[in-house]
Amino acid sequence: MILLKGFLASSSNDAQETFACRANASMERMRGMGYFRDNIERMQGYVPGLQPTGRGFIKLNTNENPYPPSPKVLEAVKGAASDALRRYPDPMANEFRDAVAEGYGVAREEVLGGNAADDLLSIIARSFLGPGDRAVYPYPTYFLYETLCAIQDAEALEIDFPEDYSLPRGLFEAEGKVMFLCNPNSPSGTAVPPREVKRLAEGFDGIVVVDEAYADFAEEDCLGLFREHDNVIIVRTLSKSFSLAGMRCGFAVANEDIVSGLAKVKDSFNMDRVSIAAGAAAIADIEYARGNVEKIKRTRSRLSEGLAELGFSVYPSQTNFVLARISDPSAEEVYGHLSEKRIFVRYFDKRNLTDCLRITVGTDGEIDRLLEELSLMLKG
Ligand SMILES: *Cc1c(COP(=O)(O)O)cnc(C)c1O
Repeated sequence: MILLKGFLASSSNDAQETFACRANASMERMRGMGYFRDNIERMQGYVPGLQPTGRGFIKLNTNENPYPPSPKVLEAVKGAASDALRRYPDPMANEFRDAVAEGYGVAREEVLGGNAADDLLSIIARSFLGPGDRAVYPYPTYFLYETLCAIQDAEALEIDFPEDYSLPRGLFEAEGKVMFLCNPNSPSGTAVPPREVKRLAEGFDGIVVVDEAYADFAEEDCLGLFREHDNVIIVRTLSKSFSLAGMRCGFAVANEDIVSGLAKVKDSFNMDRVSIAAGAAAIADIEYARGNVEKIKRTRSRLSEGLAELGFSVYPSQTNFVLARISDPSAEEVYGHLSEKRIFVRYFDKRNLTDCLRITVGTDGEIDRLLEELSLMLKG
C-alpha cells in the first residue's frame, strides 16, 4: 500500500481528529488555536518513547545503550563545565568536526555537527522541503520523518516495506525532493546492503538521506557513498553506540557544498561547549564504544534466541534492538503485562506494527529478567 500524507491528503479523518482535539483541549490550549499554520494545527506531533522517572524499572523502550559512556567523555564534560560557558561556543563546532574527520577518514568540510541526529534531520527537512514538496520513505520507519514533513507542509509518500523488509520496488521509481532511508531500519532492526542504497541514490533525483543511527551495530554501512553520489547525506548519532543520548551529539557527512548549504540553515550555535567536548572525546575513544557494541551484539543473539524459543517471530537485527512479533496473546497485552512488572518495551499503535514489540538490547541481567517474565507469562 502506498500512502500519501500531507497537504494533498488532509482527509476527513484528520478533520475529525482536529475537531475532537479542539473539543478536548483545555481553555489554555483553545486560546492557542487559530494562530498556528494550518499544517501545524493539523499535525499530531512526534511522540517519543516513555521516559519513566523513579527507580526500579528496566528500560528497553528507546534504544539507549545500557553501558556508560567512556570515562574520557566524562572527563571532557567536567573540563568543559568551566567559566568559559559564559562565552558562545564555536558556531561550526570544529573540534568535534575534526574528531569526526579523523575517526572516519573524511575531511572537516564534509562534516556538519548537530544537537544529535534529530537536529540534523530537521536541518535537512528545512533545507530541502517546502510546502507541497514531496518526501519519500519506506514504511514503517523512524516516525520522525513524518513529523518533519508535516512541519514543512510537505507531502510524505510512504511506500510499504514487503514482509521481509527488503527495499520496496516502488522506492526505486519514486520521485521527490528528499528520500529518507533509515538503514539499519527502525523499528524493524533489519538492514539492506549498501549496493542497494547505491542503486537508490543513482536513480533518485533528489537528496537521499541515509539515517545510520544504528550503523555501528551493523555488518556494513554506507558512509563512503557520499563520495560517489553528490545527492547522499549520511546522518549519524552518538546517542546509541557511544552511550550519549543525554548529551545530544550527532553529525552529517556529505560533500562540501551540501555541508555549506546545511550550515546556512542550522541554528548558529547548534552544539554547545559541553557537547562539542564530549562528542570529540567520545570519537577519539571509539575503541571504548566498539567494546560496548560487541557486548550488545552478543546479548542481542541471546535475546533473539530467547524470544524465538518463547514463540515470537524475531526479525534479524543489525541494531541494538529487536522487533518481535506475537499474536497470541496480543503484543499489546504482552506490553501491558511487562509495563506492570516495570519492564518497559516499545509498542507502536501503528499500521503493520500492532502485532510487534520493539525491545532494546539491555545488559545480560536485564534481558534475563525480561525473558523470565515473558516465560512466566507465556508458559506459566
Ligand atoms: C535514535 C534515532 C535517531 C536520533 O536520535 P538522536 O538522539 O536525536 O541522535 C535518528 N534516527 C533514528 C532511526 C533513531 O533511532
